[in-house]
Formats: sequence, structure tokens, C-alpha cells
Amino acid sequence: MGRVYVEYVEGRAYTCRCCGCHLANVEEIVSKHFHSKNGKAYLFNSVVNVSAGPLETRMMTTGLHLVRDIFCIGCCHPVGWKYEEATDTAQKYKEGKFILERSKLDVEDSVPDGGWEVLQSMSLLMDSDSEAVGGCP
Ligand SMILES: [Zn+2]
Repeated sequence: MGRVYVEYVEGRAYTCRCCGCHLANVEEIVSKHFHSKNGKAYLFNSVVNVSAGPLETRMMTTGLHLVRDIFCIGCCHPVGWKYEEATDTAQKYKEGKFILERSKLDVEDSVPDGGWEVLQSMSLLMDSDSEAVGGCP
């Protein structure tokens, strides 16, 4: 009670855009072809640092589903939902999996690959810009 233990994901992680809490490993993505009312959404095998709301019946484009909304435990913002049960047999693969809305996520790289090079070339560009301006009275 009271104390919240935050888990950290190894490697590339999706984090809560609001509070920076880790929510899922990039490798846990099952599909990026999902949509929520707020835009793109991803299906994950597992997520961390979320709390689930009450069970609800929701009509979706692929049929009737029993779902729970999920909330970031860091800031209590809704970040997606969990599929508890699908009535359509073709949709059963989603049971027990999680949707995170892309608009609620940031990507965190613990090992930047190529990111630093981009930063470096950008600062070089800025240097030459300021030289050109300063050298021309
Ligand atoms: Zn959060």
C-alpha cells in the first residue's frame, strides 16, 4: 500500500510521455496496425507500470470485446487498454494483450545508435552558420 515500485525496461523502451515512466519494451510489440480514437496504437505482449480499471464491454471495429482501460502508475493518465476477452474467434489472439496509444508514448534509447552523429553534424552546421554571420559586418 502507498508505495509505488516502478519497473525499468532493459534496452529500448516506450515511456509515458507525461511522466517518463517506462511502459513497455520495444520488442514486446505484436502489431503496430491498431487504432484508437486518438490515432495510432500498438499491441503489446506485455507492459509494465500500469494499473487496470474495471472490466468493460466495448464494441470495436473487429467486434465485441471485454477490455479494461490501463493507466500509467506514475501519473495516473490513461495510456491504453487491455483485452480480457474477444467474442470473435478470429480476434482471440488479442486476449491478455495490451494496447498502448502512440500519442501517449515516447521512445527512450539507453544506447543511442546514430543519434549522436546526427547531433554532432547539427552542431557543426550551427557553428559554420554563426561564423558566416560574425565574419560579415
Ligand atoms: Zn505517466
